Amino acid sequence: MMRPVILAVALCAVGLTSIAAQAPAIDRANMDTTCSACSDFFAYANGSWLRTAQIPASRTSLGSFGMLSDRNEAVVHRILDEDATAVRAATARPGTNEWKIGTFYASCMDTAGIAARGILPLRPTLDAIAAVKTTADLARVFGASERRSGIAPFAVNPAADPKNSRETIVSASQGGLGLPDREYYLKTDARSVDLRRQYTDHVARTLQLIGEPETQAKADADKVLSLETALAGATLSRVAMRDPNAVYHKMSLAEFQRMTPHIDWREYLTAVGGGRATTINVRTPGFFTSLDSLIATVPLDEWKTYLRWHAARAAAPSLGPAFVAEDFRFNSTVLRGVQEQEPRWRRCAVSTNAALGWAVGQEYVKRDFTPEARARAAQMVDNLVSALRERIAQLDWMSAATKQQATVKLDAFLRKVAYPDTWRDYSALLVRPGAYFENVARAGDWSRQRGWARLGKPVDRTEWSMVPPTVNASYSATLNQIQFPAGILQPPFFDPNADDAVNYGAIGAVIGHEMSHGFDDQGRQYDAQGNLRDWWTPDDATKYKAAAQRIVDQFDAYTVIDSATHVNGKLTLGENIGDFGGLTVAYAALQKALAAKRAHGEAIAAVDGFTPEQRFFLSWARIWREVQRPEAERLQIATNPHAPGKWRVNGPLSNMPEFKQAWGCKDGDAMVRPDSLRARIW
Ligand SMILES: [Zn+2]
Repeated sequence: MMRPVILAVALCAVGLTSIAAQAPAIDRANMDTTCSACSDFFAYANGSWLRTAQIPASRTSLGSFGMLSDRNEAVVHRILDEDATAVRAATARPGTNEWKIGTFYASCMDTAGIAARGILPLRPTLDAIAAVKTTADLARVFGASERRSGIAPFAVNPAADPKNSRETIVSASQGGLGLPDREYYLKTDARSVDLRRQYTDHVARTLQLIGEPETQAKADADKVLSLETALAGATLSRVAMRDPNAVYHKMSLAEFQRMTPHIDWREYLTAVGGGRATTINVRTPGFFTSLDSLIATVPLDEWKTYLRWHAARAAAPSLGPAFVAEDFRFNSTVLRGVQEQEPRWRRCAVSTNAALGWAVGQEYVKRDFTPEARARAAQMVDNLVSALRERIAQLDWMSAATKQQATVKLDAFLRKVAYPDTWRDYSALLVRPGAYFENVARAGDWSRQRGWARLGKPVDRTEWSMVPPTVNASYSATLNQIQFPAGILQPPFFDPNADDAVNYGAIGAVIGHEMSHGFDDQGRQYDAQGNLRDWWTPDDATKYKAAAQRIVDQFDAYTVIDSATHVNGKLTLGENIGDFGGLTVAYAALQKALAAKRAHGEAIAAVDGFTPEQRFFLSWARIWREVQRPEAERLQIATNPHAPGKWRVNGPLSNMPEFKQAWGCKDGDAMVRPDSLRARIW
């Protein structure tokens, strides 16, 4: 069917050394053409790569996302090193971004200095916990410590009001667990029981590091597990949390106070910076009433133990080597199967990005991204919006009324491409040499205070949520915004030297994926202004839900690692709709682009023996190729709304008639879902 030799000749015949010198956009060497594309496309497209891929000892996985991240991080690493050198040489002016980046990064790299300080930085928090004498003190210490290190057993933050997205109110949600999900506390199978044993061991070891004798630390760890198990029992599942109406309970602060009499919310909010709050969206009322009764009934000493543990846990990555090693041992090795720590510089790059990411990102963009590349990517986004608009107009199952509303919403998408137009001003953020722990705490507090300052005001629509080097993209329902950082607008996602098919199958489908989030099972419940409001006719909503249920059933049947571990169809539904919708729209956009070229008399040739349509699907399969440690994969299945890469490829493609046609698959092939089961949305 395909002849590699022809590719070589064709490439040479083009005579473009810049292209010929590069690896081909789609590399046959990574495929396994002994597999049938119609049986397992993921294996067909990636088989040889999958067989030889070696997960680095310090990683949970290896794949296209991680490999591009490494590349971007190398650019960031140079920025950090240069800025730190400039600070050392006193050529960086104190107070400038360059100086703050260099100083922050150097404070993280100063492992000897960090070790010498021991638990001194944690002392004020531990002292405040030790001083707790009453239940009222307990609630007070939640607030007082929150600005230094997040230890409260809940998440209370400023956020857009889901039904009035132009106003920032307080959002109160469940929290307080040390393990990744409620299920880790509640499941009774042998693996879960053993993991809890390892967790209490980890808690005990950490408590010993802050000075508790071994026997007390072990007894305390049991108390922590028992209290967290009670919190887990009151915690809503991730699937339940996906229903935006189920987590909308707006009330006055006074009402919330009556609901939870043992926590002085006015005092808490004043302490964290939200003292002006009057209304609050209590996302999980059941959790808060349970928490309130736990505060009233669990002995104070057990709560103090719980807080000591959470203070130590939150601080561990910013403390000395014993804390860092124990944190790594449990959270990376036990939970995720990682064998080795990342080099210090890499951890410090992550930390500096978290603290000063927009200053680093500004420099990153200067070095690694051009306004021309941004314009090309923005054009691609515009093309995808047009394609989705046409697609909506053609849907045979959606009524004119719903189509009209959907188009209004699509046209209102706020499109953010590559990097912000104005950069965050860090002049008010204090960074000090040799004070890594405090630098981390201050940066976190500074960032949270920016959020609290917007209480009662509209959400800032110019804000980005991802810094420029990030290899990711996002949709926000309350902002009705799509966002594509410069970090993902690079090969293999976006390659100006590649053919249209390769780009539409990668970044095009990613753009389509984010747009589809605006119309997934959650996103479709928000309108053009980002308000939670039902704009669907009842009949269209019913049809949509039936199609979505097919995708739930489809993914529920997929397994990973062993035949007993299933993908959670409900948890991953939004992402799976995103992929399916994104691919469908990107494919349509590719057809438009090809038609335009043909109209201009351009011949569209097969490349390496593959048609543009085939290269589109190969490109999608390539961005999702990954190998993952089984521990990490289990964690992903339990907590992550994204299905593993294999199913993000085979799942949506087997729903697409376009795929069947491109590869000449037949009814009955594994990659062709029968019409009676096939989902149809876009
Ligand atoms: Zn997504």
